[in-house]
Amino acid sequence: MSDTDTDTRDPTSLRTPIVAVLGHVDHGKTSLLDKIRGSAVIEGEAGAITQHIGATAVPLDVVSSIAGDLVNPDDFDLPGLLFIDTPGHHSFTTLRSRGGALADIAILVVDVNDGFQPQTLEALDILKRSQTPFIVAANKIDTVPGWNANEDTPINATYESQTDRVTSRLDESLYKIIGNLSDEGFSADLYWRVQNFQRNVGVVPVSAMTGEGVPDLLAVMMGLSQRYMKEEMEIDVQGPGVGTVLEVKEEKGFGTTVDIVLYDGTIRADDTIVVGGQNDPIVTDVRALLQPRPLAEIRTESRFEQVDEVGAAAGIKVAAPDLGDAMAGAPVRVVRNRDVETVETEVQAELADIAVD
Ligand code: GDP
Repeated sequence: MSDTDTDTRDPTSLRTPIVAVLGHVDHGKTSLLDKIRGSAVIEGEAGAITQHIGATAVPLDVVSSIAGDLVNPDDFDLPGLLFIDTPGHHSFTTLRSRGGALADIAILVVDVNDGFQPQTLEALDILKRSQTPFIVAANKIDTVPGWNANEDTPINATYESQTDRVTSRLDESLYKIIGNLSDEGFSADLYWRVQNFQRNVGVVPVSAMTGEGVPDLLAVMMGLSQRYMKEEMEIDVQGPGVGTVLEVKEEKGFGTTVDIVLYDGTIRADDTIVVGGQNDPIVTDVRALLQPRPLAEIRTESRFEQVDEVGAAAGIKVAAPDLGDAMAGAPVRVVRNRDVETVETEVQAELADIAVD
């Protein structure tokens, strides 16, 4: 796709990688997201973790305080991680960006006891097709019989406090998962043995219940993004926003709104946007940009607060007229100083791309 706006771009900046969580039902996707959110709230100073519409941003300093020695913030210049709140294959496959996956990186959750299941294989297939880099969270390690839980600790620390019998039992399950990955054509290993995460899939033992291994998981995600995805994270912060519709929703006082994930540029409260629709692309003017209010203020008149501008990567609710035909998964583009028809053509082309698969 042509990038006609590149010549007017300001110096680039790095955005947050977008993370999706996949895996078989009941293997712990939701629990893991909840745990990461919960740890971030505890570790973060007030306001450090920002709740977005449909996503949770965990800034680098919070990643670093959860991960402790595993993440030295000076080694990173990516701003953190943005987790899409709705786990699962459906949201992963419907959420696209420029024909590829919206998520830059994924966590495949596998229950250590239950191992590979049909939806695990399905998820692997999706990740393979979309060429999304991923790591495997081998979840529920606390359920290994005899496990001695050490809340929120890194894996090596908790390993040290287990009996040999317990660790060899866990290792057995982990190697089974590694074997299954290999059967599917992925060369995998325990993450601390992986040198090149582009070639090998790292397996991180975790417990979404006790938080063990969550420091490692965040450290690996952060390291992998920093090392291999930095170029893809370079965006023009001030450029016209580009995003994907997560959901189309009626909202009291605002009419039909779209929840979007913005992955490039900015969107402003006075922008004209083009949104993919069931028929033609919808050209409309933003009426309001809405973020969830902090929990403490939720009793005020609206659940949302209006903001003037949001930059990628972010989840935001957009209120605008004529959004009735908008579709989940459709592209959204800010027009800004460009020709509306050009932007309509871009949106149409992206929609055609989506329709092909
Ligand atoms: P999802 O369907 O993949 O989102 O799975 P959920 O997060 O809903 O988890 C399914 C069940 O497994 C719930 O009862 C969770 O409490 C439980 N669960 C998830 N992670 C863990 C874990 O690490 N340890 C234990 N013991 N239970 C877990």
